[in-house]
Amino acid sequence: MKSLLRAEGVTVRFEAPGGAFDARRTLTALDEVSLSLTEGRTLGLVGESGSGKSTLGRALLGLQRPSAGRVLYRDEALASKSPEALRRLRRELQLVFQDPYASLHPRRTVGAQVVEPLEVHRPELSRAEREAKVAQLLERVGLGPAHAARLPRELSGGQRQRVVIARALIAEPKVVVADEPVSALDVSIQAQLLNLLLELTSGGGLTLLLISHDLKVVRRLCAEVAVLYLGRVVEQAPTPDLFAAPRHPYTHALLSAVPRVGVPVKERVVLQGELPTPLDVPTGCAFHPRCPRYAALGEPDRQRCRTQRPALEGAPRAVACHFPLGE
Ligand code: SF4
Repeated sequence: MKSLLRAEGVTVRFEAPGGAFDARRTLTALDEVSLSLTEGRTLGLVGESGSGKSTLGRALLGLQRPSAGRVLYRDEALASKSPEALRRLRRELQLVFQDPYASLHPRRTVGAQVVEPLEVHRPELSRAEREAKVAQLLERVGLGPAHAARLPRELSGGQRQRVVIARALIAEPKVVVADEPVSALDVSIQAQLLNLLLELTSGGGLTLLLISHDLKVVRRLCAEVAVLYLGRVVEQAPTPDLFAAPRHPYTHALLSAVPRVGVPVKERVVLQGELPTPLDVPTGCAFHPRCPRYAALGEPDRQRCRTQRPALEGAPRAVACHFPLGE
């Protein structure tokens, strides 16, 4: 299967302001992340809040410049593209934000906002052709032609997110990064929009990176899952394999928090402590201060976890752990 978009060793650092007596500090949002999106497939990206999921989504679309490493689209580095070539690529690489209200202009009609990417990227189309495409897509996302004349504030949250999805799809992108696309909506609307995303991606023409903290959503929509912890991918695997037998202790803890039929509550793993700050990433395996497996190891093995960073190894199942589960 062909890789369409991939990150190779992508690191993103930000300078954080220091306190009154401190120097500026460096926040490592992504740390040597390598990840590949297969053409026509859906990859889920999961991890706690603050793990770097959104930064990775933006880096993959060329909206966040890496401090090190590179992003390749169709085997060509985004960094090597001219501003004009990058502008043309915008049509093929689209982002759907979490908050539909914030990503829509409050005083422009739905129709004007959905048609905008066509005006920029398909100037050869006549006005009538553009309007026909807008009407067709609004219908496809479950809105009627009458919605085109409305303002965002006249729509419900679910309808606004449908508009955002329509705007992302109107110019027929190849890759969509959907960053928590339904988490701001109520549960019944979430189900409708997830069905819509499933329908839109099932034809195989669209490659989707779905960023979500909701593992049930990822399980339903994604062929493959990558797990991010403190800016590092700790496990990547086909969805059925990952859910059946997670190999990284962090993945195991994340999955155990999802209620499942037949799994007793006592088997759920409660992680100790909060996610450490990316301003001060633990040495070696960044997960070691919270790792239940580390706590059960003897001292020579613990020292390895504390001092040596585990590489992400294996295919199609990859795990970054010195002592993965199941071995
Ligand atoms: Fe836990 Fe060690 Fe594996 Fe890290 S390398 S996840 S600390 S067992």
